[in-house]
Amino acid sequence: MLHIGCHLSSSVGYENMVKTALSIGADTFQFFTRNPRGSKSKAPDFEDMRRATELMKANNFAPAVAHAPYTLNPASSKEEVRAFAYDIFLDDLKILENLPGNYYNFHPGSHLGDGSVEGVKRTTDILNRVLTPELHTTVLIETMAGKGSEIGASFEEIKSIIDGVELRGKLGVCLDTCHISDGGYDVINEFEKVLDEFDKIIGLDMLCAIHLNDSKNPSGAKKDRHEKIGDGFIGLDSITKIINSPRLLGKPFVLETPNELDGYEKEIALLKTLYTL
Ligand code: FE
Ligand code: FE
Ligand code: ZN
Repeated sequence: MLHIGCHLSSSVGYENMVKTALSIGADTFQFFTRNPRGSKSKAPDFEDMRRATELMKANNFAPAVAHAPYTLNPASSKEEVRAFAYDIFLDDLKILENLPGNYYNFHPGSHLGDGSVEGVKRTTDILNRVLTPELHTTVLIETMAGKGSEIGASFEEIKSIIDGVELRGKLGVCLDTCHISDGGYDVINEFEKVLDEFDKIIGLDMLCAIHLNDSKNPSGAKKDRHEKIGDGFIGLDSITKIINSPRLLGKPFVLETPNELDGYEKEIALLKTLYTL
């Protein structure tokens, strides 16, 4: 069964996000925990979160993905930026305890010139301070495109973040197809080999979710500009192979393509017709 959904606006509330997902044929979804650029989060409505959890259960949803704000940079060279990342991380994870069993996805950050070794160290440091054995959320490190001084564009860097974390059981990886293609992995022609490499370096047991995106740029461009499914350099044939890869069976696929709701609904319907597992 293909678990597929898309990024939704969280301004409508939790239960309404699940209803919206259902209305477009999705059985998972992603949302920002707060304004993606700002820091303010509304006071969470725990009753709404409880109803959303019930509705997801009743409809056999795959885990949903809460996405940390883009401004969160745990690898930053600036101490106040790291302190902000820590505060947001902690607050988000606390709120998500009311939506147990889902994912919290974050960008591992940019080292801003201090080098990836230092960036990796700072990101693992924050993870070690926010992860606890009691947590009901799995924290996902997203694979990045390598724009600017971003860390996490290679599987080796993701692995070194994981290796620095004590509570590894609370961690997973979210594979973004646009990002890794832009990062130079041959998603277009050799996706199974990319998975071999992921398995060799990180281990496929760590792979929890997929951001399914086409790319506006060729492999290796390091641009991070998502395209609609089939309209970009990855293309529909390669995307069909990705959703039908047996090693991704059962994982949630989340679309972050440039679409409104009706466009997402069409992509979900199309991908379901291309799914053969
Ligand atoms: Fe992301
Ligand atoms: Fe992504
Ligand atoms: Zn992206």
